[in-house]
Amino acid sequence: MEQLAIFGGTPVRETPIYYGRQCIEEDDIEAVVATLKSDLITCGPKAAEFEKNLCEVTGAKYAVAVSNGTAALHLAALTAGFCEGDEVIVIPITFAASANCVLYCGAKPVFADINPETYNIDPACIRKLITPRTKGIVAVDFTGQAVELEEIRQIAEEHNLILIEDAAHAIGTKYKGQPVGSIADMTCFSFHPVKTVTGGEGGAITTNNEEFYRKLMRLRTHGITRNQTEMVHPTDAAWYNEQVELGFNYRITDFQAALLSSQLKKLPKFSARRREIVERYDEEFGKMPELIVQKEIPESDTTRHLYILRLNPEKLTCNRRQFFDAMMAENVIPQVHYLPVYYHSYYEKLGYRKGICPHAEKLYEEMMSIPLYFSLTDEEVSDTICAVKKIVAYYKA
Ligand SMILES: *Cc1c(COP(=O)(O)O)cnc(C)c1O
Repeated sequence: MEQLAIFGGTPVRETPIYYGRQCIEEDDIEAVVATLKSDLITCGPKAAEFEKNLCEVTGAKYAVAVSNGTAALHLAALTAGFCEGDEVIVIPITFAASANCVLYCGAKPVFADINPETYNIDPACIRKLITPRTKGIVAVDFTGQAVELEEIRQIAEEHNLILIEDAAHAIGTKYKGQPVGSIADMTCFSFHPVKTVTGGEGGAITTNNEEFYRKLMRLRTHGITRNQTEMVHPTDAAWYNEQVELGFNYRITDFQAALLSSQLKKLPKFSARRREIVERYDEEFGKMPELIVQKEIPESDTTRHLYILRLNPEKLTCNRRQFFDAMMAENVIPQVHYLPVYYHSYYEKLGYRKGICPHAEKLYEEMMSIPLYFSLTDEEVSDTICAVKKIVAYYKA
């Protein structure tokens, strides 16, 4: 058997590769440079153009571009009207921002467990958690796979809840043929460099609800409006604007928006390549009893953001930590997405304890994300598979 690099063997790769990275091409750079030379460089025509492009891609009526995905979630949660005394149902296997946005509003995140096969929020678990205080759901399309939107929308309708979809992973994904972004009450996107489409930083909220749209637009810029119909003291004075509520500066710059429009054009090729890599991994790992492949629901036509390598603890003598460290030594650097949100010490201080979501906690113990991004070469995919097989062979039970 080949010696693992962690024990002094030769690593599969000489140079490291990581779980994700951006793809910035010449035309992306040109778009940014051209904008920097223009008159308006923040939240001007390029931001509006990007919002229009995002509406086209998602099929949503309205889009509001903001400074990052967390800002998008914050504004969506405020617009949903979450406040002190409210409960909002979220998933623990997500980036902390999905739950933090509930805390920002003074409301309480209530954690629902995942479906152990798809890793997405389990609609049956949502139902069990609904109380008279429940005001909404933040449903995360984890890894890019759409949540069970039909069931979740039904629950939201029955109980008069606002559904926010955290689609930070899911740009390009469709649910029953309909693009993510046009289905929930509000859908939030992130354009951080590891996400499928990037603006360096950036985020957006899409919605079909005009009232939500107007509020989101105001909250993005301090709660200030230039629309007379929204003013308490309307006037047609050209200079006049009025702050009608407490908002923020969550604007996006025009050069980020220009980069985003350029990137968005490439979404079809980004999606196709990601799909190709996922298929290759699934084919290889699906044959190995030591690994568990994420299940996809037929309703989701997925642009995958993350590839989850899941260990089958019954067939391996190592734990996730040992496997992870062995991967690092082979120069295929994984990451874990995610620590269950309520394991963070901040949430512990708020009174959350382990044991709330057993399926999520079990998944956390067994998983890591391996390289998946547009510019990953076939050779790098092969190296990743090679590293996984080498470690599995070593630790086979
Ligand atoms: C990346 C991410 C966010 C936050 O987006 P930022 O743009 O980094 O603020 C929120 N939710 C999920 C699920 C994410 O992956």
